[in-house]
Amino acid sequence: MIRLPFKGSILEREIEAESFFYLDADKVEEIVQISGEGGAIFLRETHIEKMLMLPVRYQTEIVGILALHTPRLNRVFRPEEVGALLAITAQAASAIRNAQLFEKIQEAYAELQRMDKLKDEFIVTASHELRTPLSAISGYASLLRRQSARITPQQILRYASKIAGSAQQLTDLVANMTEAAKMGALEKKLDLQPGPVQVLAAAEMASTMLSVNIEQQIIVQVAPDLWVNCDALPLRQVITNLLDNAAKYSPPDGHITIAAHATTLSQLQLPEDQIDYERLADGEDLAVIQVRVIDEGEGIPAEDQQRIFEKFVRATRSLTTPVRGSGLGLYICRRYIEAMNGRLWLEQSVPQRGSIFSFYLPRIDAPINTGGEDENDEPENKTS
Ligand code: ADP
Repeated sequence: MIRLPFKGSILEREIEAESFFYLDADKVEEIVQISGEGGAIFLRETHIEKMLMLPVRYQTEIVGILALHTPRLNRVFRPEEVGALLAITAQAASAIRNAQLFEKIQEAYAELQRMDKLKDEFIVTASHELRTPLSAISGYASLLRRQSARITPQQILRYASKIAGSAQQLTDLVANMTEAAKMGALEKKLDLQPGPVQVLAAAEMASTMLSVNIEQQIIVQVAPDLWVNCDALPLRQVITNLLDNAAKYSPPDGHITIAAHATTLSQLQLPEDQIDYERLADGEDLAVIQVRVIDEGEGIPAEDQQRIFEKFVRATRSLTTPVRGSGLGLYICRRYIEAMNGRLWLEQSVPQRGSIFSFYLPRIDAPINTGGEDENDEPENKTS
């Protein structure tokens, strides 16, 4: 079967104006000259002398064109034949429309089923995520109650820290779930307050906060003069999340590095689906800062590398390991980075060797009053 595209073509315009018309070799040639449309070129190659063209119209919309020719050249169809053909096109139009609707319903149904499966997986993950810290909390609380007479202050401190740690895990999970729900549909614009943010300050703050909870060492390789235009709080959240993932999916002695450098949009090697064609088409190359979070962890199987950015999706392996997580982190990070005119992607991942997550944000000059020199500056106070 050959499908000739006709939407927006000259043929469609011709047929819209009349109930039917004859297409001859001259007209085909004329159309080819004007438009070079694939359909017209195909017609020319068939060497047909004359063809009757009838619109296949559903209500007012043209859903196709019926083209007829006979082996006898220059055959003109009789009015009653044209009438019968028009009746056939009316039937064909409703059949085509039904088929189109059916296709749409099938697509929507497949998407619903996919979402349903993800929700089921999420419920399993979420209940596991809730149950683990909850049982730790109730376990240590009952230990404290039962042994209150004989436990040492050190033990009390240890149990209390375990309880606090688990409570924090629950708080994080609930915060992630609420945040993802609030973000709503993909088209929804996030309410952010952009301003100058020093990448080094954001990276250091995130790594200092995280280092209390993780075993690995984080190496920060960010020059102090790299500034971006974004909202400080979500930026820190994105970096924390990427570093936290790097730690979660790496052995305790693995190195984690956060590095940043200045570059331009056209020099970045982005995956096809992350290229900002609109901005590239602007003509002016955009100055950006690329930030990389590099780990030596378990890596991500090739078949999961695109999916992990979707809501609730965890790599297949992560579903069967005790590593905590809801599959929301990368989704939230990508939404934030995109809302701040950047992109977030998986630059590289080799199973058992490690991964590199990368994002870029538009670069700006260091604000004059701080000069970007003083590392102890707290440029993020504004939104902290
Ligand atoms: P989670 O809460 O499950 O960590 P994320 O959205 O942050 O959710 O990540 C989605 C999935 O991507 C994770 O479940 C994990 O399988 C995979 N992943 C993310 N970061 C890394 C990493 N640095 N190394 C290996 N796998 C990772």
